[in-house]
Amino acid sequence: MSPERVAVVGAGAVGVTAAYDLAARGADVTVFERGDRVAAASSGRAAGVLYDAYAEDVDAELGARSMERFRSFSGDGGFRLRECPYVMLARDGDDARAEAIDAAAARMRQHGRDVDTVSGAELGRRFPALRTDDVAAAAVASNAGWTDPASYVELVARKAVDAGAELRLNAAVSVSTSPPAVTVSGTGSGGDAAATRPFDAVVVAAGAHTAALLGEAGVALPLKPYRVQALVGADGYDGPMCYDATAGVYFRPHPDGLLGGDGTVPEEADPDDWDRDGDDWFVADTREVLRHRADYDAAPERAWAGLCTATPDGDPLVGAVADGVYVAAGWQGHGFMRAPATGELVAEQVLGERDGPASFDPTRFDGDREFEIREGMVVEERREASD
Ligand SMILES: Cc1cc2nc3c(=O)[nH]c(=O)nc-3n(C[C@H](O)[C@H](O)[C@H](O)COP(=O)(O)OP(=O)(O)OC[C@H]3O[C@@H](n4cnc5c(N)ncnc54)[C@H](O)[C@@H]3O)c2cc1C
Repeated sequence: MSPERVAVVGAGAVGVTAAYDLAARGADVTVFERGDRVAAASSGRAAGVLYDAYAEDVDAELGARSMERFRSFSGDGGFRLRECPYVMLARDGDDARAEAIDAAAARMRQHGRDVDTVSGAELGRRFPALRTDDVAAAAVASNAGWTDPASYVELVARKAVDAGAELRLNAAVSVSTSPPAVTVSGTGSGGDAAATRPFDAVVVAAGAHTAALLGEAGVALPLKPYRVQALVGADGYDGPMCYDATAGVYFRPHPDGLLGGDGTVPEEADPDDWDRDGDDWFVADTREVLRHRADYDAAPERAWAGLCTATPDGDPLVGAVADGVYVAAGWQGHGFMRAPATGELVAEQVLGERDGPASFDPTRFDGDREFEIREGMVVEERREASD
């Protein structure tokens, strides 16, 4: 029997999408968010780079479905998808990444993605805003764009409420299994702090807090939060989105000028105690790459950090971890752009309409498995799960 009452923990991009898809299909949905607004955590700090250019078949399909949904939502409320090509490049002398870009682009095309392999000279002709005389390999993904991530979360939260979901802010919860239930531990506007409510199903889309939350419920998951960073400069930039893989920096146009980022710190962060400001080294390194690649020299007007979550093999954990309890987390820096499809996927799993891909099975590892955090924005092949 399909679950009737579903709790969604977390009103980030993934949680609100799952809530919308569940409510639109007739479930009685309550969303619990510990913050005082939606997009209060990683989704509100993301860069909003969107594309379907993935080399793995499952990722390519989810990326394409997400772009389709972003496009269909664009223009509703304050949400706009800004169409913009995405360039991946490696520099002369970086043979490993140059080969990886060529190989990945070929696999993206095998999965039906609109991705061209181009020479440095051709790249320069297409995008005069980029310096290209040092480019060893490049690929251009056309099904790509950018947005303000919070505007997506706000729109889809409103659509979920319009479809009948209840959204409870200032409502930090703990989760229990057998039977599935949530207990509101935060005070705020909820009014029934410490009351435990049973649900037919609970979806935990709590971002960087997911492992701690489910760990307290006795479900150990191999998920580690880590910091990544972004900055905004106030001078205009009228070029494509670009990922300089050799430098480990990406940038895109932004309404205030330009947004640049990466600044991965591959160390486990405490989701309740981490530095929200951009590091000086990140700002200095990113400015150097922007000067080199796009002749862009504006001092950043702001720089910040946020948390991503890593898994042992770089694939997320999406699906049931106990009877009626589901997880959706572990996006390795690609959670926002895939949220329209992964939120839909977990909703359909909850409703028994669809199985998730085996590569996302959240029970594929021992929860206490040791692993090192690896950067999400990479062009190299993914690790095998057995590494
Ligand atoms: C600087 C930066 C740049 C990024 N750029 C991109 C990008 O360009 N493209 C991309 O695809 N991804 C990007 N990411 C990654 C992206 O932000 C995440 O993958 C994505 O936002 C994850 O969404 P989520 O809904 O899973 O988690 P979140 O947005 O973190 O949502 C989880 C929610 O759960 C809530 N919560 C936690 N614990 C509880 C509890 N106990 N009770 C109730 N609520 C709780 C939190 O308050 C939060 O609102 C970037 C991340 C950062 C930090």
